[in-house]
Amino acid sequence: MVAGLVGVGSFAIANGTDQETMLHVRSSDSSLIALIARATKQSATFRGLIDTINSSDGIVYVEAGRCRYSRACLTGVSTAGEYRMLWVTIDTRRVDSELIASIGHELQHSVEILSNPNVRSTAAMYLFYSRFARRVGTGRGAFETEAATKVGNAVREEIRAFKSYCGSPSMRSWTNKFHRVAWRPGSDRLGW
Ligand SMILES: [Zn+2]
Repeated sequence: MVAGLVGVGSFAIANGTDQETMLHVRSSDSSLIALIARATKQSATFRGLIDTINSSDGIVYVEAGRCRYSRACLTGVSTAGEYRMLWVTIDTRRVDSELIASIGHELQHSVEILSNPNVRSTAAMYLFYSRFARRVGTGRGAFETEAATKVGNAVREEIRAFKSYCGSPSMRSWTNKFHRVAWRPGSDRLGW
């Protein structure tokens, strides 16, 4: 969903190795950074979104918070020098797969916006979406696109498929075997 939000705060960029892999998709929240790094590894669709944004002039800030009409929203566009900054808010009170799907959904909106170089402000963003997107909510209004809905669903399925593969009997027995071979109880050394 793309919707207005009152008062976008200032953000400090968290340090850490995961942040380096994110580049143009950032957060001040270390748990969101970890989740985005994990999603990048486990979902090809999510990875594609990150790659597209990394090669664009956009920097997307994903922060925990509340949206007026939904559990995730892209709330605004602004500029800093040659870069465009996009602001995504995510309600983090959900299981990881749902959270990642929502982030993927909002990153798709980010890609939609970044694909049009003329969208350089929140007002321009509204104008852009009013031309083709479905209007949802009431009052100031919000927009939704078919593409973002599809991307969110694809990311959710890929994350779930990854989880079920790693939790499958063959994978578990391999993991147990590996631990038996590699680790001697009571020892701090690997026991090859
Ligand atoms: Zn949406």
